[in-house]
Amino acid sequence: MLSSNIYADIIKVTILGSGTPRVNIDRFSQSILIEHKNDKFLFDAGRGALLRLNQSRILPNEIENIFFTHLHSDHILGFSDILMTGWVYHRQKPLNIFGPPGTINFVDSTIKSFEEDIKVRSLPPESLNVENLKSNIEIIYDDFTYNKNGLTIETFAVKHEPFTYAFGFKIFNSKYCMVISGDTTYSEQVIEKTKNCDLLIHEIAHASEHTLEKYPKAKGVISYHTNASQVSKIINTVKPRLTILNHVLSLDGSSDEQILNEIKKNTKHKVLIAKDLMTIDLKDEIYIYKQKNL
Ligand SMILES: [Zn+2]
Ligand SMILES: [Zn+2]
Repeated sequence: MLSSNIYADIIKVTILGSGTPRVNIDRFSQSILIEHKNDKFLFDAGRGALLRLNQSRILPNEIENIFFTHLHSDHILGFSDILMTGWVYHRQKPLNIFGPPGTINFVDSTIKSFEEDIKVRSLPPESLNVENLKSNIEIIYDDFTYNKNGLTIETFAVKHEPFTYAFGFKIFNSKYCMVISGDTTYSEQVIEKTKNCDLLIHEIAHASEHTLEKYPKAKGVISYHTNASQVSKIINTVKPRLTILNHVLSLDGSSDEQILNEIKKNTKHKVLIAKDLMTIDLKDEIYIYKQKNL
């Protein structure tokens, strides 16, 4: 049956940053925008998130809800830009921020570090309202659930030691479902949450055996991320309609194509490596395209 609300249930996902702490103009650190009905949710706010939002034609004051998977710097570096520039763009209400323990300190310290700027901009001629700079902060935990306009966001704990608190998110409405793994090593929780889901956005870290043997630090880093064979195993277990590999960490210089080929040796399911500004419309037929640069 045709319905005028045929697009109402679409979950639109834009990868703003598909990278890691490594500095790369083409691959900013992690940030994912989710749009549902008229709501916008940001999952992590890595380096340059506001610039990528600008390339997606979204104003700094349009972001109202930010979820943090964990507090590694590559996931929060772009937060101050969104907080402060959104205020300069006359954001009319406080941000809603959801993050692990430590988030209150992080947000408060960020605001404190801009004390001089805030003092000046609160006075004429700008006369910005300091009340709009304050944030509603909610501390998340395993099984924390949030609902807004038919979209549910479920938090689940993942393994990203030595972090005590690191989370993934299951995001769904009555028709579609997706999971963001966050930074994690192989996680049964991710598998459990992704069962019967349409889209999995999972992190990937890659290093050859040779690199792992030669560089103990690489071995250490890989141990709290997910490698190609683990990712293949997860995909084969949960069989999502589409898997996007994000937070792309190549410790041995392998290209995206080489990493993807490695994974495709072990799975026949659809899998892509994320690029910045890749957009996915989650609907009956998943549609993937790229936001045009300005
Ligand atoms: Zn990270
Ligand atoms: Zn991390």
